[in-house]
Amino acid sequence: MEKIRKAYVRTYGCKQNFADSEKIMGLLLTLGYIAVKTPEEADLIIFNTCAVRENAEQRVFGNVGVLKKLKGDNPGLVIILCGCMTQQPHMAEYFKAKFPFLNAIIGTNILTALPGIIGAEAVFPSAEEIKPLREGEFSANVPIMNGCDNFCTYCVVPLVRGREVSRTPEKIIDEIKGLIAENRRDILLLGQNVNSYKPDFMELLHEIDSLDGEFTISYMTSHPKDCKKELIDFIAESRNISRHLHLPVQSGSNRILELMNRGYTREQYIELAEYAKSKIPEISLTTDILVGFPGETYEDFKDTLSLTEEIGFDSAYTFIYSKREGTAAANFADPVPPEEKSKWFRELLEVQGRISERSYLKHIGKSLRVFCTGEGRSNPELLTGKSKQGIIVDFAGSDELRGKFVDVKITKALPWALVGQLTVNK
Ligand code: SF4
Repeated sequence: MEKIRKAYVRTYGCKQNFADSEKIMGLLLTLGYIAVKTPEEADLIIFNTCAVRENAEQRVFGNVGVLKKLKGDNPGLVIILCGCMTQQPHMAEYFKAKFPFLNAIIGTNILTALPGIIGAEAVFPSAEEIKPLREGEFSANVPIMNGCDNFCTYCVVPLVRGREVSRTPEKIIDEIKGLIAENRRDILLLGQNVNSYKPDFMELLHEIDSLDGEFTISYMTSHPKDCKKELIDFIAESRNISRHLHLPVQSGSNRILELMNRGYTREQYIELAEYAKSKIPEISLTTDILVGFPGETYEDFKDTLSLTEEIGFDSAYTFIYSKREGTAAANFADPVPPEEKSKWFRELLEVQGRISERSYLKHIGKSLRVFCTGEGRSNPELLTGKSKQGIIVDFAGSDELRGKFVDVKITKALPWALVGQLTVNK
């Protein structure tokens, strides 16, 4: 009897990388593998790496080092590194020299290269035709484009993922119809800058929104320079588009925004955010903020703090700048010591923490439409789901509600979720 081959895929970084890994696993299924949960069980190990921040890279170095023993115990084990980190020639060289036991270091074109590396002879489908092996029962990530044309000066993405390439609307719509038929009704459209999707992002959303049934479509990431007021008007009128707008501001200082090459000013950003709040009062507005960009002064940082207070983001992903080789900002003078940047960072966390707490409290007493996806996050005896604003909501209810939309009256706010009671079940 032929031995069952087992594959383990570990993903670092963003949702786009997770979506890529789901495709890798989907391809491996067609090549006769099954997925396993630990590297120890596997005949094939793939690490899908991320280059966006230094701490993700450090984790990869540590975790790859640990695989040496597994390879020593089982010389037939195949270990492959792929993803954005290994797309950079200097990194690929480093891995080759430091970890000679790796079978292949591929970069971002793994779907094409994988069958050859593992000696698969079968005819395999094109990347577009591979059905991803999705995690979770009721949710799905759907990449609508890949790459980025923007060249923000701190960002390595255009260097490792290349220029923007959009999938066709027909393929995306077909995929979403299939997901809805599978009862995956929490769908996230992915792209580095979805607003520049070609031929037209609003048109795409419009077509998706008109599909039959109730579902939630969210999307990330929106670039503030390309997010138009017409899009906000459309979302306000839509049936199934999420009331969550993730709009990365990065800095509140016009001087720093210009150095970052972000293409908008503080004033333009505030105007857009205020417009969204006025048109969609229930909107949840979240952002990304980068602290300690090269040349940033405390005065610049205070502009970020004041913008954060003025807008009152529901939550923010906050990061300390990390230098990425090959980007423009890697050559900028960066005189502020790391301890000082960490101090600013803690100040920002403190301010945003207070704002987020206030923002979660405002939902108490309200009824939110929630798509139930599984076991409670705050308590396994509860159920959990996602509101139309993208907020996690836990509530008591029976298991048959999984995969259904329900109305939940909010009774309590946690720092990262809401808790409530079921009001109506359809
Ligand atoms: S928009 Fe800027 S930050 Fe976002 S992926 Fe493109 S270059 Fe990077």
